[in-house]
Amino acid sequence: MPSMLDAVVVGAGPNGLTAAVELARRGLAVEVFEAAGTIGGGARTEELTLPGYRHDPCSAVHPLGVGSPAFRAMPLARHGLEWLHPELPLAHPFPDGTAAVLARSVGETAMSLGPRDAGTYRRLVAPYLGRWDTLARDFLRTQWNGLPADPVGWARFGLHAAQPVSLLTRRFRDEKARAILAGMAGHAIAPSGGFGTAGPALLFALAGHAVGWPVPRGGSQAISDALGSYLREQGGAIHVGVEVKRLDELPPARAYVFDTSPTALARIAGLGDAYRRFRYGAGVFKVDYALDGPVPWTAQEARRAGTVHVGPTSGEIGAALRAATKGHAPAVPFLITAQPSLIDDSRAPAGKHTFWAYGHVPRGWDGDATEAIERQIERFAPGFRDLVLARAVAGPPRIAARNANYVDGDIACGAFEGLQTVIRPKLTRVPYTTAHPSVFLCSSATPPGPGVHGMSGHHAAHAVWRRLRGHG
Ligand SMILES: Cc1cc2nc3c(=O)[nH]c(=O)nc-3n(C[C@H](O)[C@H](O)[C@H](O)COP(=O)(O)OP(=O)(O)OC[C@H]3O[C@@H](n4cnc5c(N)ncnc54)[C@H](O)[C@@H]3O)c2cc1C
Repeated sequence: MPSMLDAVVVGAGPNGLTAAVELARRGLAVEVFEAAGTIGGGARTEELTLPGYRHDPCSAVHPLGVGSPAFRAMPLARHGLEWLHPELPLAHPFPDGTAAVLARSVGETAMSLGPRDAGTYRRLVAPYLGRWDTLARDFLRTQWNGLPADPVGWARFGLHAAQPVSLLTRRFRDEKARAILAGMAGHAIAPSGGFGTAGPALLFALAGHAVGWPVPRGGSQAISDALGSYLREQGGAIHVGVEVKRLDELPPARAYVFDTSPTALARIAGLGDAYRRFRYGAGVFKVDYALDGPVPWTAQEARRAGTVHVGPTSGEIGAALRAATKGHAPAVPFLITAQPSLIDDSRAPAGKHTFWAYGHVPRGWDGDATEAIERQIERFAPGFRDLVLARAVAGPPRIAARNANYVDGDIACGAFEGLQTVIRPKLTRVPYTTAHPSVFLCSSATPPGPGVHGMSGHHAAHAVWRRLRGHG
């Protein structure tokens, strides 16, 4: 170990690993310290149920990963990352056996929404088609790091994105379009009337057309392993099984970069109540299934999709999210599900399948939502229960115990709601810096927020680099 490192990174999630890679790539001496026994944070894969069934306990589907400017600038394929694309990125089934879809093609997507809304959908996405690279760079940036590459496109997108999704869906006449958009907005875990909830809906739809919604071969762990392997190639080192509790436990370094919650950062680095106004959001209840066969969705489209959203109307989706954020467990949850083994045969023994599902619950909720989740799946896939060989469930307490960043089961590491969607963790010119000149924050509690894209780590590395260069 060198006597003085350039940077120590605490936490080996996608953002911590990205920050470490980007600093090591600039020739700095970097070491990473991770509390868990393996790297990955929210991008990991484990045999949670039965031998041979490889589940993603956290992230599974990666529109923002495959479209991330930070990941695209790294040779991750050479380090084993292979993206597998389902035939359809997303299906949204309805009780009558039909489905709306997000397809790679705008035409197929628009047609699935019905004749009265197809034109409105085409007009909504048209200004952004063929411009993912610029849009992703500009949208997944922060307020402070210079002008957007396409200021007009960025401003237009901002006007669309700032709306509540409930306003965006009013442009559409039928429930198919409204529900599929409300479902995509639901990834942000905020009531559909909230500021900025149209942003995720639009971003996920555009990602579907531009880059797809793929899964990594072998599971989400492959993303983390590729980042870890590239980091080691650049001379960086990773230590696992080390929970950092105090700054002075760490080796001497010129910079300390925290892939942690702001609350943990304040405690570890002695920053007092610097983040007392930072709010954590609703939690999730996650179930990973080992299945005897593929999910028997009534809607044929859902059998060809990597991701399936289960929520029959935009109203029901809104009600489920509102209940969870207001502290009530929804009787009928909105479900985000994924079926990676349809396209990746390394996830389960031949003929068998893994299935990934979660619904939203209040933060810290310690009830059991398994029955409510399975009742809802069964409505759209009769016979599902008969296929269940084993299940692993995790409510907020278990999710928080596995990863300290998911405070009370909030998988976004801070509510992605209201002004906190853009001002996170607090109002400051460079959100990655802290009151301590050598301490930085790089987790999804900073812009651009949750998701496996590494962009918070990328921007934080830039802030560290500027500070270190400034000091010679
Ligand atoms: C159930 C679930 C489903 C999700 N689905 C998706 C999805 O499909 N697609 C998607 O893009 N995103 C998804 N996400 C969100 C995504 O996983 C996160 O937004 C992303 O992982 C955040 O990355 P990060 O590096 O900021 O933090 P994390 O990935 O949470 O990593 C933080 C790391 O820091 C470590 N750490 C924390 N404190 C300490 C300490 N004191 N000392 C040492 N180490 C510490 C933790 O152990 C962890 O490894 C999901 C998350 C969950 C939980």
